[in-house]
Amino acid sequence: MPKVSKRLDFFTESIIRKMTRISNQYGAINLSQGYPDFDPPKELLKELKKVAKEGPHQYEITWGSEEFRKALAKKQSKFMGIDIDPYTDIVVSCGSTEAMMVAMMTACEPGDKVIVFSPFYENYVADVVLSGAEPIYVPLNPPNFNFDKDELTRAFEQKPKAIIICNPSNPTGKVFTKEELQFIADLAEKHDTFVITDEVYEHIVMKPNKHVYFASLKGMFERTISCSSLSKTYAITGWRLGYIIGPSYIIDKARTVHDFLTVGAASPLQKAAIPGLEMPDKYYEDLQELYTKKRDLFIKGLDEAGLKFITPQGAYYVLVDISEFTGGKIADVEFCEWMIKEVGVAAVPGSSFFKEPVNHLIRLHFAKKTETLKDAVDRLKTLRDKWNKNNIDISTK
Ligand code: GLN
Repeated sequence: MPKVSKRLDFFTESIIRKMTRISNQYGAINLSQGYPDFDPPKELLKELKKVAKEGPHQYEITWGSEEFRKALAKKQSKFMGIDIDPYTDIVVSCGSTEAMMVAMMTACEPGDKVIVFSPFYENYVADVVLSGAEPIYVPLNPPNFNFDKDELTRAFEQKPKAIIICNPSNPTGKVFTKEELQFIADLAEKHDTFVITDEVYEHIVMKPNKHVYFASLKGMFERTISCSSLSKTYAITGWRLGYIIGPSYIIDKARTVHDFLTVGAASPLQKAAIPGLEMPDKYYEDLQELYTKKRDLFIKGLDEAGLKFITPQGAYYVLVDISEFTGGKIADVEFCEWMIKEVGVAAVPGSSFFKEPVNHLIRLHFAKKTETLKDAVDRLKTLRDKWNKNNIDISTK
């Protein structure tokens, strides 16, 4: 029989989606794949109902409906502090997942090198490999997940075509400071490198941290491919609405890649999401407050459960240290599977985010209703006792 592409040797099922699958199988509280269990704003739902009756139901302009792009350009121009042209600077995509793939395919030739910070959101390396490029890993060092300036400088000396920055960061919760971003900007300029950003958590930042859009740094708009989505900001992860913002010489090409990959994002959903893009500033202030409360409630619970964790500055994930249970001898994947079955809470094994052999962290998310979080915390409080009872079975496997 013919053989499937060798490129795929590298791929396994997404660990994040696998954990969701196992969690559903055992009816656990799913704090693995990051999505809310609460409804989108009512303004969007009302519009969705209207769209069902009035349309559109057919293809839209491949790079996004004019009305959607205008609303998005207005909102992002305000938040990014850049004058974004809805006619030349935007591609609307099927989620940020497609946006990142399109960005990579637009920026890179086969054989190009791309800097990826480790830990990283699992899609990035898949994006790099699928576009024929090769990753250069630069570690973000716990507990603050800062990069070593010399190490990053050495990575840039390998002449990468692009660097990927996830800010606020999944899975670490790091929010890059302006000084850190400026250091990267200077290197990108010196070595003539594209900067591909994933900023889907742009509005989920806990005070006093502040999100700085990479493209807003002096001179950076011209080399930055900013990817983001509406998924997290409006609790519509299933609508798959994302976008790329960049200068017209990049967007012009990115539109072609996007067109051949997917034709376009769902037209009825673009229409129904417009009231989201038109929300007043208060919506974003309330969102920040909501997620700060959720984080604080959740980490207080983790603390009460006696678990060690790293407090996130942004996004909606917490990395919990499991080394006291596993002693580094039991795989985090095995620990997570045990936790789903015995504790009833699903997490993502940290090893899926790291290039380095890191095995002592698991990722939990807190984009859930208060009652779900409280229930999860109650279950996590039983973890230690249950582990002590089960430890022997697991470690002798
Ligand atoms: N970004 C989310 C996460 O990291 C969802 C990932 C996905 O499955 N699309 O969990």
